[in-house]
Amino acid sequence: MHELGIVKDIFRTLEEAYPDKYETIIKINLEAGLLSSLQPILIQNAFEAYVLDDTRFKNTELEVSILPIIAYCKRCNKQFEVQYHRFVCDCGQTSDSIIQGEELRISQVTFKEDKK
Ligand SMILES: [Zn+2]
Repeated sequence: MHELGIVKDIFRTLEEAYPDKYETIIKINLEAGLLSSLQPILIQNAFEAYVLDDTRFKNTELEVSILPIIAYCKRCNKQFEVQYHRFVCDCGQTSDSIIQGEELRISQVTFKEDKK
């Protein structure tokens, strides 16, 4: 399953970033771009499966938010939000320059000791 690989990657990244506090992570916030074709529900399912195996994280929460698609218009020199996958600016110019929407990133990590 593709999503399980992503979840494993996330844990691996966090382990490298926070070797001392890794096991005290209680919440992970992810941001997924609309174009990344990642479905939050599938990531949640993969996460649940992962923590069944790695019980250190059985109480860890995962929250996935979706980022809108942002493209850039050369003619107006501005960014605009792409809706319904129409890559067309207000001015009528089409754009293939995507600023945001393809990424998957960890936006926030909460550790046990942070929460008082
Ligand atoms: Zn424009």
